[in-house]
Amino acid sequence: MSPYRVLVVDDSDTARTLLARTLERAGFVVITACNGAEGAAVALRERPSVVVTDLDMPVMDGQQLLRLLKSEAATASTPVVILTSHGEAPSRFWGSQTGADAYLTKDCDPGDLVATVARLASLVPELEPRKASPPLSQLDVLTKVARQLDTRLLHATLVNRLLESGLHANDLEAASRVTSEVVRDVADVHLMAVGVTEHDSAVLHVLVTHPVSLQACRRFNDAVLAAMRLPPGVALDVRVTGTPDGDTDVDPAHLVSFPLPLRDATGVLALLPSEPQQFEVTSRDLVQELVPHIALVLDNARLGQRLQELSARDGLTRLLNHRTIHERLASELERAGRYGHPLTVIICDLDYFKRVNDTHGHMAGDTVLRFVAGAMTRTLRDCDAIGRYGGEEFMAVLPEIGLEAGLLVAERLRRAVAEHSVTLPSGKQVTITASFGVASRAELIAGATADTLVGLADSRLYEAKEAGRNCVRP
Ligand code: GH3
Ligand code: MG
Ligand code: MG
Repeated sequence: MSPYRVLVVDDSDTARTLLARTLERAGFVVITACNGAEGAAVALRERPSVVVTDLDMPVMDGQQLLRLLKSEAATASTPVVILTSHGEAPSRFWGSQTGADAYLTKDCDPGDLVATVARLASLVPELEPRKASPPLSQLDVLTKVARQLDTRLLHATLVNRLLESGLHANDLEAASRVTSEVVRDVADVHLMAVGVTEHDSAVLHVLVTHPVSLQACRRFNDAVLAAMRLPPGVALDVRVTGTPDGDTDVDPAHLVSFPLPLRDATGVLALLPSEPQQFEVTSRDLVQELVPHIALVLDNARLGQRLQELSARDGLTRLLNHRTIHERLASELERAGRYGHPLTVIICDLDYFKRVNDTHGHMAGDTVLRFVAGAMTRTLRDCDAIGRYGGEEFMAVLPEIGLEAGLLVAERLRRAVAEHSVTLPSGKQVTITASFGVASRAELIAGATADTLVGLADSRLYEAKEAGRNCVRP
């Protein structure tokens, strides 16, 4: 086997001579260069087994040489040893970030240097015979370094932009929007989407950035959903930003998807490039480098959303909790007052609920509460709000609904509760009824508060109880 060739790069004649002697004594063939630029040219031409480089050098320093060698295909796997007179933390850190294979100080034992070089040399597979490569001038090398720095700066700028606004997004929709904006800066796309699949639900945020047709958008969505491989039974929520009312058609075969490494969920970033071939050349690597940062932004938003949900919702029924439904009533009342629109509030209390607990146990009571919450939620419109107002009391806020229509809604709620039996964890079936009090904004004097409206509905609930329960009172 031919002896390993080691390139020693150092601007000090004395250091070079000393190092060369040490390594030659150990059986290596040594070639030398006196600065980073020359070192790069020699390394790319001669393909040594190992490079040993000083840090501080004129023209081009050791860190720049290291970065260049690691980014050039011909030398990417060539081990590089940094040998420097200063072993400060920042330069050690930067060396390791840039891919230095070893970091030694010049006062180290020559035996350590020899052992390190020998170990690294033995790790690299025997190099193929060198191909004659055109010699590089120092200017060529410096141009390469400048270009590389520019690429890194572009990447760092993109990441910075993504994180700056992305980490402020505290719901998935906002985080997906920020992601889309940053990706669009470096990739020309017709359509893009962020899909997140949780344990039992999934969301797909689609962004239309070009006048594509509705058909095209649908085909894109289908292709992304296929890439998401949703397990059966997962509730899917698709949200589209932008209107697909153009006439550009797209070929979903050109869909490019990047898996997103999310915590306890699977995610995908999907793009439909305007120019698929151009995308591969100019944009794919940049987007790929953004992927871990996009995942971080999405995870952060999911966490924020979860926290917000935990603080706004009741743990048992998943309905809005007392504070949140009350806030919602106050803001809806304010809005209705401003525009002179109707608004109705319904308060409901389960009848003889204590008996359920006493007869079947507390767990059975909880099951009944969840059943009632589900039945009432399904009966209401999306724009209505429903909350758990107290133990077995619920409140519904119905914007744009007056007293008469509100009474009909309450009657529908009453039937939704009373007309179905509930299967308890024991397998037994029980039925439950509830009483309802209904009050409307129009019955109050102008400027009356949410508490006044609740008080009125509450007194009517009491009347419903008095009247024998399982009924609605205005
Ligand atoms: P009425 O028809 O007059 O409203 O009778 P009621 O038995 O429903 O009324 P009461 O206010 O006496 O009882 C309400 C019961 O609701 C008492 C309480 O133990 C029960 N409760 C409140 N919160 C929960 C809960 O989270 N889980 C369970 N299982 N029971 C609850
Ligand atoms: Mg009750
Ligand atoms: Mg009660």
